Amino acid sequence: MATRTHQPSIPLTEIEQSAFCRTEDQLPAKSLAEEQAVNVRWQDIPAQYLHCSVEELDQRIGIAKKTLGKSVTILGHHYQREEIIKYADFQGDSFLLSQEAASLAEAECIVFCGVHFMAETACILSSSNQRVILPNITAGCSMADMAPMEDVDDAWEDLESVLGNRGGITPITYMNSIAGIKALCGRNNGAVCTSSNADKVMEWGFQQSGRVLFLPDQHLGRNTGLKMGIPLDKMVVWDPFKAMGGNTTEQLANAKLVLWKGHCSVHTRFSAGQIQAARERYPDIKVIAHPECPMETVDAADFVGSTEFIRSMINDAPAGSQWAVGTEVSLVNRLAINNPDKLIFCLDPVTCPCSTMYRIHPAYLLWVLEGLVGGKVINEITVPEQTQVEARVALDRMLALK
Ligand code: SF4
Repeated sequence: MATRTHQPSIPLTEIEQSAFCRTEDQLPAKSLAEEQAVNVRWQDIPAQYLHCSVEELDQRIGIAKKTLGKSVTILGHHYQREEIIKYADFQGDSFLLSQEAASLAEAECIVFCGVHFMAETACILSSSNQRVILPNITAGCSMADMAPMEDVDDAWEDLESVLGNRGGITPITYMNSIAGIKALCGRNNGAVCTSSNADKVMEWGFQQSGRVLFLPDQHLGRNTGLKMGIPLDKMVVWDPFKAMGGNTTEQLANAKLVLWKGHCSVHTRFSAGQIQAARERYPDIKVIAHPECPMETVDAADFVGSTEFIRSMINDAPAGSQWAVGTEVSLVNRLAINNPDKLIFCLDPVTCPCSTMYRIHPAYLLWVLEGLVGGKVINEITVPEQTQVEARVALDRMLALK
């Protein structure tokens, strides 16, 4: 068994997740000082940005962006707030945006309004002379933070000791993971997947070894396994807080799918009970959910798919249709604004944005843009060369499966 050099712990991003949950629908930005008053631990920023009004921030972001012109491209994930997404040159989910980053020949700098693992992926896929900036360096992802490198290295060592180190198990990691895990997959004949191709990549993984370690989201892994016909008694959960992940050697040898015990703090809020309540209130409602939701929620939904799938399904739906949506509320609110002829609402009656996406406050965007205007690169994301090479292998294996 691997010798532990540290104690696993609950990530701060998970602990702070509920800081911005509220009962009203809208989430208008306030000054950074007002937002930080709820006691979140975000990156320090020069005092001059703390008390700027939202209007002043908006005006100055516009000026800085115009000054920088094509040398800077702003990428905005769908889960970003309205005050940020309005400045995005491109919007998309994590994978689309990373692909976009790879095709931006003109941009010297890519300002990634998303979370840390996305900026890392952009760094791996963009060219070596481009610089990738994350406006708030503490914008992690609670799911990615549940699989720190030391824990995954220990788990991999344990799994190889039990299952053999030649093809006993294939590591597959969801895009929502740190670059080091993507690299581990690259050098151990594994691959990366997204929520839209997880089944295809998992099927490929089973062809390699007959057994898959799926990281870091147990729910996406379980939902995908079930979709592929793998019974629950052939799945085990790897709990990094326990020796051998909480499993016996026999359980591991018998498993087809080993699921890392991670989850998305946003998507695990959606429940079968919320779906039932929505159906009772609106008998014609269609329920659409993301596969990071728990199995019972996915079972009860009418449609299940990635962020891009949810967007196109609702955008293409006929006028008058009704949708209860199990995904991040900023995206759901935007879909409702853009489709006024349809009834669209978030399944969760409490408005809980992804608190790590929410860390990209307009003050941080302004700070990094004005830094660039003054010739200073703030919050550049870099990935060590060897990690980039190995992670790229795992990403390329996924891309080859199209
Ligand atoms: S929605 Fe979930 S998986 Fe996506 S960035 Fe937020 S915490 Fe991470």
